[in-house]
Amino acid sequence: MTPNHHLDDATVLSYSAGALPAALAVVASAHLERCAACRTRLLDADQIGGVLLQQQRVDTPAEDARAAMLVLLDAEPAVEPPAPPADIVEEHDPDRLPSALHPWFGNSMRALRWRRVAPGVQRILASGIGGGDLMLLRIAPGSKLPLHSHGGNELTMILDGAYDDMLGHFGPGDVADLDGETNHQPVTSPGVPCICVAATDAPLVFSGWVARTLQPLFGF
Ligand SMILES: [Zn+2]
Repeated sequence: MTPNHHLDDATVLSYSAGALPAALAVVASAHLERCAACRTRLLDADQIGGVLLQQQRVDTPAEDARAAMLVLLDAEPAVEPPAPPADIVEEHDPDRLPSALHPWFGNSMRALRWRRVAPGVQRILASGIGGGDLMLLRIAPGSKLPLHSHGGNELTMILDGAYDDMLGHFGPGDVADLDGETNHQPVTSPGVPCICVAATDAPLVFSGWVARTLQPLFGF
């Protein structure tokens, strides 16, 4: 399945530079496993990083370095997207979590041990990741989540099921790459629970009375 929602440019550049907080980097890696388009963009970003290093060495004016970066960002990819690593080819197995999640959650969706945190919401929090929070969420079909925004960045990837919000429809493989300003209210699709992996680098900020009541349940 080809994802429709991708990492934004800033996230790809930060990932390439090794500058993403650890929790966000795990979700970015999981998406990259399943998205050839973003793997190509990552190659471009790696090239830009190389150009910047080179420019620094020869002391090129910042304007020239910026122009070179923009040319690279606009250019058609010079190479075909790299093939996914061999173990990713097994992605048709619906039980198998992306490899990037294995150190934190194991490899089997069925073997996950969920903990209920609110009506219709179950969660597994990764412990000891540092650099933000990383969690799996399992949200009942047809649920409306509280309206919330974030003090920082949030990166969420859908693993199973789907949800809709003002930004569109998000299905398996899609990522929602949100900054601290975006206030959103996902509604999960009917049928199967929506299972996603979410990373934040700052606590969630819920709006409204009901949401504030729920906030302690989420443990943020
Ligand atoms: Zn992508």
